[in-house]
Amino acid sequence: MHTDLVAALDIGGTKIAGALVDGHGRILVRAQRPTPAREDGDTVMRAVEEVLGELTVSPLWERAAAVGIGSAGPVDRPAGTVSPVNVPGWRDYPLVGHVRAAAGGLPVELIGDGVAITAAEHWQGAARGHDNALCMVVSTGVGGGLVLGGRLHPGPTGNAGHIGHISVDIDGDPCPCGSRGCVERIASGPNIARRAVENGWRPGPDGDASAAAVAAAARAGDPVAVASFERAAQALAAGIAATATLVEIEIAVIGGGVGKAGEVLFAPLRKALSAYATLSFVRHLTVAPARMGTDAGLVGAAAAAMNRRTDAAAAGV
Ligand SMILES: [Zn+2]
Repeated sequence: MHTDLVAALDIGGTKIAGALVDGHGRILVRAQRPTPAREDGDTVMRAVEEVLGELTVSPLWERAAAVGIGSAGPVDRPAGTVSPVNVPGWRDYPLVGHVRAAAGGLPVELIGDGVAITAAEHWQGAARGHDNALCMVVSTGVGGGLVLGGRLHPGPTGNAGHIGHISVDIDGDPCPCGSRGCVERIASGPNIARRAVENGWRPGPDGDASAAAVAAAARAGDPVAVASFERAAQALAAGIAATATLVEIEIAVIGGGVGKAGEVLFAPLRKALSAYATLSFVRHLTVAPARMGTDAGLVGAAAAAMNRRTDAAAAGV
């Protein structure tokens, strides 16, 4: 029997998704549970085991060669542990060991969720064909990951590309991470909405005060809503320009709910990039919306598991 599939897990603060994925990134079997994020660690783990349990009873399971996990971070790849900010029951939680046991001893690859999304965009999405790319998720938080020299760059602990917590305003507002003036503190959806409300924008009769509602108002020409998106775009541009200047990326791909705002975000982003990315080797940097949908985390976790197999084969192990 060929072991031509991998199992993938996408673990976030809202849902735990699992799938069996083939070598073309196609999802053949899927399972999902809500994340009991406020419960103790073992209860959260039971939800993961239920998702895996649904996969293991599939007749396709025997074709699975490895398990890839993309988890909300921080993660610790060498230790096999995770400490997701939004799952307080998991601190240095030995996720990899538990998943390996539940998956019958298959090898397990762990990466952060931003790195997983990057793997998916590089394999099949907007970063395909680019050897040096930054992929970002801009939604409730701001995450990201890097492709360098044609390969995913998870970094030693699996967290590289954490652009949301680069400071772009050295005297700026304190960030929950402990630093101040972080990209996330300025550009995340909740911060776009907060800033608009602070400056006098008011939601419509439906009471929707989300970043999506601010985006709709900006599209209709509301100057306060436009300004809030411009400020977010400025923070993103400063972070992207810093990344490009350090490691020479060609493209920055932006996904997540805020990334779906379209030109309300991308027009001021391109303008701000031309102000911050000024040296000859970063001037041609492009930005593009993400192309992978809600399955990006699963497809990326699968890609990481497949890359690990390829690396192991190349090393003769
Ligand atoms: Zn921060």
